[in-house]
Amino acid sequence: MGIAAENISKGFGNFQAVDRVNLEIAQGSLIALLGPSGSGKSTLLRLISGLETPDEGRLWLAGKDATTQSVRERNIGFVFQNYALFKHLTIGQNIAFGLEIRSISASKVKKKVAELLDLIQLSGLGNRYPAQLSGGQRQRVALARALAIEPKILLLDEPFGALDARVRKDLRAWLRQLHERSRVTTVFVTHDRSDAMEVADKIVIMNKGRIEQIGTPAEIYNRPANAFVMGFVGPVN
Ligand code: ADP
Ligand code: MG
Repeated sequence: MGIAAENISKGFGNFQAVDRVNLEIAQGSLIALLGPSGSGKSTLLRLISGLETPDEGRLWLAGKDATTQSVRERNIGFVFQNYALFKHLTIGQNIAFGLEIRSISASKVKKKVAELLDLIQLSGLGNRYPAQLSGGQRQRVALARALAIEPKILLLDEPFGALDARVRKDLRAWLRQLHERSRVTTVFVTHDRSDAMEVADKIVIMNKGRIEQIGTPAEIYNRPANAFVMGFVGPVN
C-alpha cells in the first residue's frame, strides 16, 4: 500500500514536531526516515500509523483519505523503539498475540506462527521464552509479530536500537532480505546514517520537523541538497 502525507503537521504545545511535511512513499518500497534526535521522525511514523492525529494536513493510504482512520482500520504492523516482547509468553505466543485478539481459529494461528518462525529463521524455537534468545533474535520475533496480521505497511522505529554493531549489521542484511521476499511497504526510523545507507531504497532526511531531502542513498551522498544534509550524511573529512 502506498503512503502520501499532504502538508501534514503535528505540534505539542508551541512546538512543531512535524511541520508541513509532504511525502510520497511508493507501494512496496523500503524507506528510511533519517535525522538527528528530536527531528520529528517518530512523530511522523506515529502519524502514518494512526497513533497520532495530525493538526493539519491529510494522510493517504492506497489512494484513500485515511486521516481519520483508526490504527486498526489501517492494518499496519508496528515495531517500536526498544520493543519489548511479553516476557511471560513463549515466542510462538508472542507472534500469535495480534492474531488471537482478532479471533482467528486456533489451527490458522498455529500455521501462521510456524510460517513466521520459518521466515525469521527461528523454526523450532516457538516454545522458548524471550529471555532465552539473543537481542537480535528477539528483534526478529518483534518483526514476526508485526507481520503476523499481514499488514499492508510495516513501520519500524529504531529497529536496531539497542543492539551491538555486529548484530546490527546482520539485522540490516536480514531486513533487506525480508523486504525482498515480502514486498511490504516498509518505513523505518533511524538516526544512524549507516542503517539508512545500507538498507533503504530511498532516504528521507529530516531536521526540525521538516524534510531536507529525499533521494536514493547515492543521490543523498553524492548530491546533498544543502549544508545540513552534507553535515549529516556527507563524506567525513
Ligand atoms: P525523533 O524521533 O526524531 O527523535 P520525535 O518525533 O520523537 O523525534 O520528537 C520530536 C520532538 O517532539 C521532540 O522534541 C519531542 O520532545 C517532541 N515530542 C514528541 N512527542 C511528544 C509528546 N507526546 N509530547 C510532547 N512533546 C513531544
Ligand atoms: Mg524517535
